[in-house]
Amino acid sequence: MKKIFPCILMVGIFFLTACVKQSAEPVAESQNKSFFAMDTYMSITAYGKNAEAALNKAEERVSELENLWSVTNENSEIYVINHSNGQSVAVSPETAELFDFSLEISEMTDGALDCSIYPILTEWGFTTSDYKIPTEEKISELLAYTDYRKINFNGEIVQIPKHMQIDLGAVGKGYTGDLIIDILEENGIESALLDLGGNIQTIGTKPDGTDWKIGLRSPFDEGNFATFEVSDRAVITSGGYERYFVGDDGETYWHILDPKTGKPAHSGLISVTVIGDEGRLCDALSTSLFVMGLEKATELWKNRDDFEMILVTEDGKIYLTEALENQFSLNQMYGNLQTEVIHK
Ligand code: ADP
Ligand code: MG
Repeated sequence: MKKIFPCILMVGIFFLTACVKQSAEPVAESQNKSFFAMDTYMSITAYGKNAEAALNKAEERVSELENLWSVTNENSEIYVINHSNGQSVAVSPETAELFDFSLEISEMTDGALDCSIYPILTEWGFTTSDYKIPTEEKISELLAYTDYRKINFNGEIVQIPKHMQIDLGAVGKGYTGDLIIDILEENGIESALLDLGGNIQTIGTKPDGTDWKIGLRSPFDEGNFATFEVSDRAVITSGGYERYFVGDDGETYWHILDPKTGKPAHSGLISVTVIGDEGRLCDALSTSLFVMGLEKATELWKNRDDFEMILVTEDGKIYLTEALENQFSLNQMYGNLQTEVIHK
């Protein structure tokens, strides 16, 4: 079976690291920290006097959170829950918060997001890159243990049924971004850009007062189909092109599964970008809306006012919510992609 490695660079970022122009204002000092954590490359750029110390604290925090949420580290809380054999496990406040949030989104999306999908992801090989197409029997067997409603959680203690395994990976990076932003802000940072494996989160504007320019990766090739201008927000994408393999049957299978079928979600969408104040919401929704498809995503958007979205369909149409129109510009080379604005 052909293996294709996950494409980590899904979002290109352009930003000015220092002003080239001579100006009376001193150029803000910038510091960057790049490291590998949570199975991905993370890069954080912060501006200001305290940037270096703030970034060191941020990296330490990521490592603490990874130690709590890793599915493979035997000391992590998630590992302990997954090997609890039906017993109750007390969790830290951070894990409790993430759990609570993940279950809330599962409820809200009618199970499009389901942290108990993990054993099926493993069966497909998405957790190890040792890809294979599971048999129908195996999928049915595992689907019997896939149901977030069977998780008992009282705010402090988690109990999952025997055979169930969970992974909070679809929301963990967004929540990590939110916690990093808290640390940077506590340390006086007013301008920063976080790229956590393609999850973009920003504090303020660039030091020169202009918006950050984010390149949105084309789901059809290596280029960026659009540029998006943003300040003080998270811009988080889930795409079928990020991690996938081509089976012996010639079909493409990607890493976002529909918990109702145990197979890669085919809702008609190939890329979903969610923009909002909270990284955790954007991260959770980018995965969920990918599963839900255009119609249900639009319905959810109409009922809430805490996120905006850019959807790309498999047949090359872009849908963006009305508030984004002025921040979004289609790159010339992708002029063949038809754009439609979704109104409330
Ligand atoms: P990534 O974390 O790969 O950037 P996402 O935030 O979209 O992208 O999360 C996708 C990850 O979530 C997958 O790699 C898989 O581990 C897990 N996942 C896939 N489908 C679902 C689902 N329906 N519900 C919850 N988690 C999922
Ligand atoms: Mg996600």
